[in-house]
Amino acid sequence: MGKKNIFIGGAWPYANNSMHVGHLAALLPGDIIARYFRKNGNKTLYVSGSDCHGTPITLRAERLGINPEEIATHYHEEFAKNFKDLWFSYDLYTNTMQQFHKDNVKKNLLEINKKKLFYSKTEMEDFCPCCNKYVSDREIVGICPICGNTADGDQCDKCLTALTPDTLKDKKCKICKTNTVLKENTHLYLRLSELTEKVQAYYEKYKDKWRQTAVNETAKYLKEGLRDRAITRQLNWGIDIPFKGFDDKKVYVWIEAVIGYLSAGKEAAKKQDINFDEFIRSNDTVSYYVHGKDNIVFHTVILPALLSAIDETISKPEMIISCEYINMNEEKMSKSKGNLVTVNSLIENFDSDSIRYYFTFNNPERKDSSFSLDEFVALHNKHLVGGYGNFINRNLAFLSKKFKGKLPELVLDEEVGSEVAKTYQEVGDLISKGELRAATTRLYDYIQFANRYYDQSTPWVLAKTNIEEFNKVTSNCIYMIANMANLYEPVLPKHAKMVKKLLGLEEIMEWAPVSYDSTVVLEQVPIMFERLDPATIDLSKGSEDTLLIKKNDNACLI
Ligand SMILES: [Zn+2]
Ligand SMILES: [Zn+2]
Repeated sequence: MGKKNIFIGGAWPYANNSMHVGHLAALLPGDIIARYFRKNGNKTLYVSGSDCHGTPITLRAERLGINPEEIATHYHEEFAKNFKDLWFSYDLYTNTMQQFHKDNVKKNLLEINKKKLFYSKTEMEDFCPCCNKYVSDREIVGICPICGNTADGDQCDKCLTALTPDTLKDKKCKICKTNTVLKENTHLYLRLSELTEKVQAYYEKYKDKWRQTAVNETAKYLKEGLRDRAITRQLNWGIDIPFKGFDDKKVYVWIEAVIGYLSAGKEAAKKQDINFDEFIRSNDTVSYYVHGKDNIVFHTVILPALLSAIDETISKPEMIISCEYINMNEEKMSKSKGNLVTVNSLIENFDSDSIRYYFTFNNPERKDSSFSLDEFVALHNKHLVGGYGNFINRNLAFLSKKFKGKLPELVLDEEVGSEVAKTYQEVGDLISKGELRAATTRLYDYIQFANRYYDQSTPWVLAKTNIEEFNKVTSNCIYMIANMANLYEPVLPKHAKMVKKLLGLEEIMEWAPVSYDSTVVLEQVPIMFERLDPATIDLSKGSEDTLLIKKNDNACLI
């Protein structure tokens, strides 16, 4: 395989609320892909950050009587900690409040402006004469034209009709209850309609590499044709507009956040001595964009359109790693249902590698999946305790106990050697295509191969009857352990580190069969994974809209 450069953009979580399991499932593939390519020797940039501007944050800040920056900073710090706890290996996890991002947005808007792709348009907008400001749809109340009840500017909660402010009667400002008036306001628009053909050509070029939902969503959007979109927003929280006459407005988040990939990429490249401007334009660079299905068109339509507008030579998203939703026990997960399971709650209760394993093995790659604690526990016990952990522990603990931790020299069995080599080839191939469920399934086949080899060779009998044969069998088992740690490293990085430390392989950083150093003497072998008892783990109602995982370690002690 040619040594290509890899750019990976993980979606930017919105800094308005804690992340839940759906966010995690959508973002985790990015880390596994990044870890694989680094091991494979590819020059890799993996970036993301928190999306910190926009109306939901300002409205929440108003309600709480605090500054929007406080909310954004609070959640940004929480996300950064979540990612660290789960061993995400971003080269940079930043946020849209950073000055380098603001400068980069400005630079790119000026670039688009040179191509005459912006125009200003004046329209009548709702204005509150008492507050002396324009009010957005969410800041207006009025009478619903359908049912006659009081409704918000964007939706009637009584009859559940989606509304626009111009259909409401007797419109009032939510804050002061004064009737709003219509007043002229000028916004800046991007001529997205003129970029339709370019996006269409881009879509035709890459769509065969995407999952069906990404293809369908993009096709649907393109069929309707791109519509010009305002890039200015009447807000005082966000990035300034670099053009005269828009001092009271900020850059709309839809255009600003996706430019974040370029800001973060450039910043991360500095630390690795990579020339980002070349990297992102090179035919030798493959890009992966990793996100949930509600984010697809931002990556397959909006981002490519913007990149065309900024500079035709910048590579557009090639691999779209989009995923579906995670439901809760077969029910949609939502705030209103109060059944969100947060990433915080998972981290508080489970090993980071268990969490990573569950959401990779069960990733909703092509259809919605359902989160179930029972399945989480069952998978952990079967694959990680009974499979991965058991193979490592029974071999190493035996050597530790009976042979003072001394390792036999490797006499590699042809069958073992070829299975190990084949596993690297096949798993690497699957990960590079974004087929992570299939990759973890293939990895589990390898574990079953290893356990079968052990059971059929009966080293515990050989230890007493034929020490030469015992040494040979055991050396093959240790060889398989060293490679198990290495092969599983993208998915289970924490345990890879533990095993590699035991076998003196900490420096190994390649995607190819590795041998072990037989002069190493095993130190204390820790239990890889502890069995979880389903009877001690349950879900209970948490605050507001969440469900909390409760683990009671003493429940079973009688
Ligand atoms: Zn008002
Ligand atoms: Zn109504």
